[in-house]
Amino acid sequence: MNLRLTGLVKRYGPVTAVGGVSLELEEGTTLALLGPSGCGKSTLLRLVAGLEVPDAGSVRLEDQDLTQTPPAKRGFGMVFQDYALFPHLDVAGNVGFGLVEARVAPAERSARVADLLELVGLAGMGRRRVHQLSGGQQQRVALARALAPSPRLLLLDEPLSNLDANLRESLKLELRGILQGLRTGAIYVTHDQGEAFTVSDRVALMREGVIVQTGAGEELLDQPGDPWAARFLGHDNVFEGESAALLPVASRAVLLRADLTRLLETGEGTTPVTVLAAARDGLAWRLTLDAPAWNVQLTWRGFDRELPSHPAPGSTFGLLVPGDAWRDLERSP
Ligand code: ADP
Repeated sequence: MNLRLTGLVKRYGPVTAVGGVSLELEEGTTLALLGPSGCGKSTLLRLVAGLEVPDAGSVRLEDQDLTQTPPAKRGFGMVFQDYALFPHLDVAGNVGFGLVEARVAPAERSARVADLLELVGLAGMGRRRVHQLSGGQQQRVALARALAPSPRLLLLDEPLSNLDANLRESLKLELRGILQGLRTGAIYVTHDQGEAFTVSDRVALMREGVIVQTGAGEELLDQPGDPWAARFLGHDNVFEGESAALLPVASRAVLLRADLTRLLETGEGTTPVTVLAAARDGLAWRLTLDAPAWNVQLTWRGFDRELPSHPAPGSTFGLLVPGDAWRDLERSP
């Protein structure tokens, strides 16, 4: 079912947490709501859930206006970062909780619980107490519990942020698989761009209460809407005003997609650059390069095999820049 948010506004005293958001979510797709801490993501999700009432705007699912509908009557499933499991119930009791409330018969309930535990990778663990589970397992239980009543929409608020980095990496891929397999649409709130790109079909980039850009992760990375979006999405080489003056693109705001460039020996067709600093970033190098022709410093990341020689500070290379590595950020959508 399609979700449509129109002109949503939520203020807390002088603070406008959500300042007029309109969004659509297509059936069966996952939308990541991505933005820095404090930009209004959770508030927007809470408006969708019905946990907050908007000062203006509406929440519609298909042709149904849900703006004034209480949370329990919306038929949405929610997963929060702190899992919020019931400590006195075992795993199966937690997953089946909504089914007991919905008066689903016991046999059907156990079959559904077993299916869901299998879906989230916890097959056979129904009798475990929740405190015996790791954080990652508890979050799987929370997901299964949210899915049990076959919600019309799934809302996830930073579901992986309490987990350690390794677990987050593996669980986000797994979540992607689970969400793709569902017919339910989902909104996934996160401040982590990697998580947003992995888990979702589309990303809505949020800043100071408004959505500044929406698109597939690839599209956003390829053509950020403005310098702020480019930097937030992880691009290193954003030049504005005076610092963009000598670049080959005539604009007040320019992005160089360094990931599309190559470092070679100096030679025809390349721009000379000098290594100012070279740091290991895991297996990759993070180089700071001086490009006197453009009067800028660049950051370049890559592996040993992508370098013509050891990048000792002071060494000079030739940067090969295909025309499409430059982005004019002033003319972006
Ligand atoms: P995010 O989820 O992106 O971190 P939030 O939606 O939690 O952002 O918060 C957006 C803004 O609204 C922040 O400035 C926050 O302090 C404010 N805010 C959120 N909830 C409340 C509340 N219940 N009372 C007052 N201010 C709030």
